[in-house]
Amino acid sequence: MKTDFEYITENYNRICYEIEEAKVKYRNKEDTIELMAVTKTVPPEAVNHAIALGANLLGENRVQEYESKKDFYNPTARVHFIGHLQTNKVKYIIDDMELIQSVDSLRLAAEIDRQAKRVSKIQDVLVEVNIGDEASKSGVSPDELENLLMEMAVMGNIRVKGLMTIPPPQSSEKFLYKMQEIYLDISSKNMDNINMDILSMGMSGDFAKAIQYGSNLVRIGTALFGARNYV
Ligand SMILES: *Cc1c(COP(=O)(O)O)cnc(C)c1O
Repeated sequence: MKTDFEYITENYNRICYEIEEAKVKYRNKEDTIELMAVTKTVPPEAVNHAIALGANLLGENRVQEYESKKDFYNPTARVHFIGHLQTNKVKYIIDDMELIQSVDSLRLAAEIDRQAKRVSKIQDVLVEVNIGDEASKSGVSPDELENLLMEMAVMGNIRVKGLMTIPPPQSSEKFLYKMQEIYLDISSKNMDNINMDILSMGMSGDFAKAIQYGSNLVRIGTALFGARNYV
């Protein structure tokens, strides 16, 4: 029987192959597409196995879970926050995050700016867009995106690096296309202090399609670690 770790190795190799394949098909040779390992519910030993394979960019969803696991992670890993973030929890993660991908309100942006200033850091962030305008999902609606970006542009301890989205699972392709249009539209506006380097889009079920529509950071949980065991 194969161990869980052997499955992770196989999964990792297959995902890397599929990313390469999508890139050859849809993108330019020089494009970089980053693979993020999404760690929710995954034990640190399994995460460290993925890091050793080369998946050294981690995506964290929950502050408490991250706090309980972080000391066991291989310290060479880079960590992004990708889950819904409550303003009162920003202070716990501000030191550790290379990027906070899930900024979805002015209030949250202001708190990240305030906490980043306190720890003398410029915090890189993405704005999360609720591309399907789903009531159940966080993220700013496409209509409000530009206003939020303008308000964030003047915050001294925040640097906007791009956009993140979780499209509705049904008819994902239409929304991937719409998200790419928004990303390109904002990029073309060359707003002061707003960079559009990163489009974080694509998960286990749609990452090849997301690459087709311009994603350069895919966030993968299930396809890498297997189905999640919720407790
Ligand atoms: C869980 C999660 C993922 C990964 O989802 P999978 O379908 O398991 O690959 C990606 N992004 C976010 C924000 C998530 O919460």
